[in-house]
Amino acid sequence: MFFKIIDFSKFSSIKVGVPIEVLMLERGDDIPNDRMIVGHANNLLVSSTPPPLMMLSKDFSFIEFEDEVLTVGCATPTGKLLSFAKKNGLAGFEFFSKLPGSIGGMLAMNAGVKSYEIFNILDAIKIDGVWVKKENIEYGYRFSKLGGVATEVRFNVTRGFSKALLDELVNLRSNQPKTASAGSAFKNPEGDYAGRLIEEVGLKGVSKGAMQWSEVHANFLVNHGGGTFEEARYLLDLVKEKVFEKFGIKLVEEVQVL
Ligand SMILES: Cc1cc2nc3c(=O)[nH]c(=O)nc-3n(C[C@H](O)[C@H](O)[C@H](O)COP(=O)(O)OP(=O)(O)OC[C@H]3O[C@@H](n4cnc5c(N)ncnc54)[C@H](O)[C@@H]3O)c2cc1C
Repeated sequence: MFFKIIDFSKFSSIKVGVPIEVLMLERGDDIPNDRMIVGHANNLLVSSTPPPLMMLSKDFSFIEFEDEVLTVGCATPTGKLLSFAKKNGLAGFEFFSKLPGSIGGMLAMNAGVKSYEIFNILDAIKIDGVWVKKENIEYGYRFSKLGGVATEVRFNVTRGFSKALLDELVNLRSNQPKTASAGSAFKNPEGDYAGRLIEEVGLKGVSKGAMQWSEVHANFLVNHGGGTFEEARYLLDLVKEKVFEKFGIKLVEEVQVL
């Protein structure tokens, strides 16, 4: 293991944060239990005082396909696995398209699009060095309880990559803002949409400094350049307060605030 300074204002997809010392894990290392694991920071809002952080090094970026068993390292970017699935005609990975992140981050968030989510194609995850079958992991809409660091994953392989599904899912994304963001800021509450609620309380398009509730998609908190953690936190709290006042609904952040 080794330390690396990561500037989250450059590394994170929302471009907020400061340079932070992060412990990089290599193959064979014991995994510390007093640090938080981060992936490729597409779902993170990092303050200037996050808990101690660690990350998987490139040792964990690999794809092995032997005897119909697909094993993937958790630092592998989604795009790389999507290309592999396309090339080898494997089904179930189409929704990875334009869904930025590492496989570890995808598993921790049970990331997905509509009814397509990563747990659908999951067989087992190696967590803190032990293989755990999907049946023994608690998961649901945009969450899973891994209880440790995912380093490798095995997928259920079925043949037949669908170009039509890929195109459909890519199309869905045409209404998403191109400005820096961490994807959806809040989870959709049962039977409703966070974006609709944000619009209803009149906060769509509202900004604080360089941070703004996107005019394109209300549930995207976007950074026009140089936005700060404090500005982002202010806008998240403002939405929670106004939505609770008007609808009695407690919105829960999908973006992980560190
Ligand atoms: C433009 C845009 C669009 C997006 N669209 C979607 C979407 O449609 N659907 C969707 O679900 N998400 C979406 N996201 C969010 C993001 O792509 C996913 O949450 C992705 O899975 C994050 O992966 P990451 O590697 O960046 O994880 P990070 O953001 O770094 O971390 C996310 C969480 O995963 C945990 N984690 C990371 N690696 C590991 C590991 N190895 N072991 C255990 N825990 C780990 C972290 O502790 C953290 O809690 C979008 C993001 C952006 C920027």
